[in-house]
Amino acid sequence: MFDLIIKGGTLTTGARTDIGIKRDKIAAIDNLSEAEAGQVIDATDDLVSPPFVDPHFHMDATLSYGLPRINASGTLLEGIGLWGELKQVMTHEDVVARALEYCDWAASMGLLAIRSHVDTCDDRLLGVEALLEVREKVKGYIDLQLVAFPQDGFYRDPTARDNTIRALDRGVDVVGGIPHFERTMADGAASVRELCEIAATRGLQVDMHCDETDDPMSRHIETLAYETQRLGLQGRVTGSHLTSMHSMDNYYVSKLLPLIAEAGINAIPNPLINIMLQGRHDTFPKRRGLTRVKEMQALGINVGWGQDCVLDPWYSLGTGDMLDVAFMGLHVAQMTSPEEMRRCFDMVTINNAKTMGLQGYGLHVGAQASLVVLDAQDPIQALRLRANRLCVIAKGKVISQTPRGDATLCLPGRPAQMRRRLAR
Ligand SMILES: [Zn+2]
Repeated sequence: MFDLIIKGGTLTTGARTDIGIKRDKIAAIDNLSEAEAGQVIDATDDLVSPPFVDPHFHMDATLSYGLPRINASGTLLEGIGLWGELKQVMTHEDVVARALEYCDWAASMGLLAIRSHVDTCDDRLLGVEALLEVREKVKGYIDLQLVAFPQDGFYRDPTARDNTIRALDRGVDVVGGIPHFERTMADGAASVRELCEIAATRGLQVDMHCDETDDPMSRHIETLAYETQRLGLQGRVTGSHLTSMHSMDNYYVSKLLPLIAEAGINAIPNPLINIMLQGRHDTFPKRRGLTRVKEMQALGINVGWGQDCVLDPWYSLGTGDMLDVAFMGLHVAQMTSPEEMRRCFDMVTINNAKTMGLQGYGLHVGAQASLVVLDAQDPIQALRLRANRLCVIAKGKVISQTPRGDATLCLPGRPAQMRRRLAR
């Protein structure tokens, strides 16, 4: 007797199967047509996937678009200035309410694990306290991992160092940084060194905003790879954005990428935000500002797509849909072969789960019973359609259901029901 059976779905591998759930675990993946269950979800002809994972987000800023004003230039630097204005007026209750509303959106999108940076450049640690509360409130359906992020610079901001350490003492999970925003290249490198040492001492992971600039001389990823090796942090360190790599000299990159691979560093490009914010100082040709995704993957580096922003000082759109993120990434990185398109789906599921170090993730017996039923037959179709999440199951419970994306047509001689699937 199962608590829940997902009947007849197609896995991302193409296999058709039933999935039996007992309490919060997957108990069977097999033909369960004779089995009994408290609840049955019919997923015949639909894709069943592990949940979406966003390894790079800013939940303290989300859903604040227009507060206290909009970003007129659309640049990263005006966004940082605008966020500084918002920090002066926001309250604990306001941050909690916005974050919880966003988590509702995420749950409805099957986005059930999120790594959020939280700004530690605030003597009150208001965002930190608010998101620690949110992490606890959503833990039944979303795994929220927090990164101590000194937005105004670990050294550049006079109290950032102390406040970042206080945030880690309060239970923030991951050590963050922003070396390209320090006053000098030397300060940036020193910040990478000290932050990695803090992580090593505390047994924590590292995830830095690293080289989010079009300046090809911004090479903090090199220091991050070096410190990862020196401190034995292989597999526990992530470089977010890495946009300067887009503009770097090819010869230098031919040395850099093997160092990143050797250090086991995860990479998180954020295609919606990178294509929006980078290249703003260019006329034409205008650089895309996306890091070298396929080149890193060819060397075995774990790369996943991150979302970064939804309706905040840096980005005026977004819905919490990781298929939107992968769709943009697929275009900008020109990942157009069938294998590459499928890889884009893996990047917002299994690759990101690896970056976050999620335990019990995936669709196998014994895994956590969290999954998504999509209105699509396979991962490529899911990307093309940004398919509706027909059913979202988190830790054994159905938490969200959405109708199919069908249309009813009134066209003479044409079918009345229309689904954009191409069923062949
Ligand atoms: Zn970010």
